Amino acid sequence: LVQAVWSNAEATPAAAQFARRTDTGWEDISFARFRDDVIGVARGLVAAGVQRGDRVALISRTRYEWTLVDYAIWACGAVTVPVYETSSPDQIRWILSDSGAVACVVETAGHAASLAAVRGDLPDLRHIWEIDGGGLADLAAAGADVDPTEIDRRRLGGRADDLATIIYTSGTTGRPKGCVLTHRNIYADIANAIPHMPNLFKPDAATLLFLPLAHSFARLIQVGVVQARVHTAFTADARNLAADLASFKPTFVLAVPRVFEKIFNGARQKAATEGHESIFERATQAAVAYSEALDKGGPGLILRLRHAVFDRLVYRKLRAAIGGRCQAAISGGAPLGPRLAHFFRGVGVTIYEGYGLTETSPAVAVNLKDHIRIGTVGRPLPGVTVRIDEDGEILVKGDLVFGGYWNAPQATAEVLDADGWFHTGDLGALDDDGYLSITGRKKEIIVTAGGKNVAPAVLEDRIRAHPLVSQCMVVGDRQPFVAALVTIDEEALPAWRSANSKPDDARPGDLRDDEDLRREVQSAVDEANRAVSKAESIRVFRIL
Ligand code: ATP
Repeated sequence: LVQAVWSNAEATPAAAQFARRTDTGWEDISFARFRDDVIGVARGLVAAGVQRGDRVALISRTRYEWTLVDYAIWACGAVTVPVYETSSPDQIRWILSDSGAVACVVETAGHAASLAAVRGDLPDLRHIWEIDGGGLADLAAAGADVDPTEIDRRRLGGRADDLATIIYTSGTTGRPKGCVLTHRNIYADIANAIPHMPNLFKPDAATLLFLPLAHSFARLIQVGVVQARVHTAFTADARNLAADLASFKPTFVLAVPRVFEKIFNGARQKAATEGHESIFERATQAAVAYSEALDKGGPGLILRLRHAVFDRLVYRKLRAAIGGRCQAAISGGAPLGPRLAHFFRGVGVTIYEGYGLTETSPAVAVNLKDHIRIGTVGRPLPGVTVRIDEDGEILVKGDLVFGGYWNAPQATAEVLDADGWFHTGDLGALDDDGYLSITGRKKEIIVTAGGKNVAPAVLEDRIRAHPLVSQCMVVGDRQPFVAALVTIDEEALPAWRSANSKPDDARPGDLRDDEDLRREVQSAVDEANRAVSKAESIRVFRIL
C-alpha cells in the first residue's frame, strides 16, 4: 500500500503535502519531508524489534503525527491498531490485549497514564512512545543505526494480502470486534473511490481533516490524499475548527451530517442575533428551491435572480464559515437529510453523500459530480458489487471486503458467506438507475413486547419529516419498550414559539421540559408509529 500510494507522489517530492498548525500559522510539510519522517520512525520501530505482522497500537487525536505513525508502521511491515483517544482504560485494555499489540504510540501524557493503569494486564506490550513527550524523535534517534534498505526491503517485499490494520468497531452488543483489513482491501477502496472524484481529489485541492482518524472514513481519505497529492491539514481540537477552516481554506471537507447541521444552525443563530432572521429564512427556502430545480434540468430566470440576491446577502457569508473556497463535502456514517443536502447545494457547497462500513474499507457507494441523486447514497463504486437479498439486506462483494474479525471466526461466519458476500446488516434498495438508498438496519430491529418488529431507521425518517424535528433516534429502551430521542429544529422554532405564545428568545434547551412541545413531538411520533411500524407505543424519552 505504501509503495503504491507513494510512487505517485514521488514525482514532485518538494511540493507541500501536509500542513501543520503552529503558533504563527500553517507550516507546510513537503512530500519528501513526510517520506523522511516516515522512514525515520519506521527505522526506530525496527530497532525496537517490531517484526512484520506485529500489531502496533496508536492512540491520538487527528494530527500530522497520526498519519506519519500509520505510514511508518506500514513501512516496516507491521499492522496499525487505531484506538479512539477518548477510550477508557477498560476499552484500551480490551483492544490492546485482543490484538496482542507489542507496542503503542500515544499522543499525550494523559493517554500514557490510561495505558499505564492497565499495563499489568498486557504481557505482549513492550514499548510505549509518547508523541508530545518527544517519543517520535527518540524513535528516530534509536533507529539511526538501522540500515534504511531494511525498510525498503520490508516495504517492497510486502504482499497485498498482508494485514494493514485492525479497526475495532463498537458493535451494538458485546465487546468491540477487530475488523481485519489487508493492504489489498484499503488500496482497492482508494482505487475505486479517489479517481472517480476528480473534481475533489486533484493536486491543487486542499482538505482539512477533523474527523477521528481512528475511524475508517477519515482514515481512507488520509491515505487517498497522498495518492492524489491533495494539500492536507489537520484539526485535533474541535474548538479550533472554525478558525482552522477560515485560515486553511480547504476546497473540500469530509464530515458527518451532524457537522452540516451545526454549521447551518450556527449561521441561522448568527443571522437571528443580527436581526436578519427573516432574510435567512427566505434565503434558506430559496437555496432549497434552487437546488431542487437543478435536478429538474436547471433553474429558471426568476430562481437565478433570486439566488444571486441571496448569494450577496447570505450565501457568501455562510461559505466563508467553511473557508470561503470550500465548494464540496463528502458526508457519510449516518443519513444526511435531503433538505440539508439541497440547502448546502443551493448555497454553493455540494455534499456528496456516501455509504460504507469499517468492514468494507469503508466506501461502498457514493454520489459523484455527474451522478448525484440527493436522498440516495449514490451508485456502488466501480469494482464493488452490491446485491439486495430477499430480506432487503444489502450484500457487498469485491476487493474492499475485509477478511474477517480478529480472533472471532463465529462472528465472521455470521457476516461473510461461502460465496464471498458480506452481509452488511443494513436494509436498502437499488433504483432502476442503480442508485442505492439506505432504508433501515436489520441488525437493529427492535422486537416489542407484543412481538412486533420495529425498524428504527424507517421510523426515524418518518419522525424527521415533521417540521419541528431535526434529528431522531429510536431505541429499544430496556426492550421491549421503544423510545425516541428527538432534537428540535431551531429553524422551525420561531413559528412554533409565536403560535404557542412562548418567550421570543426560548431555545430548544429552554423548552426541553415544555409540556406543549412534548405533546406536539409525542403526537408526531405517534403518527409515524401508526404509519410505519405499529408498535404498541413509543414514548418520547428525551427532547434535546
Ligand atoms: P462503531 O461501530 O465503531 O461504533 P460505526 O457504527 O459508525 O462505528 P461503521 O462501520 O463506520 O461503524 O458504521 C457503518 C454503518 O453506518 C453502516 O452499517 C450504516 O448503518 C451506517 N451508515 C453509513 N453511511 C450511511 C449513510 N450515508 N446513510 C445511512 N447510514 C449510513
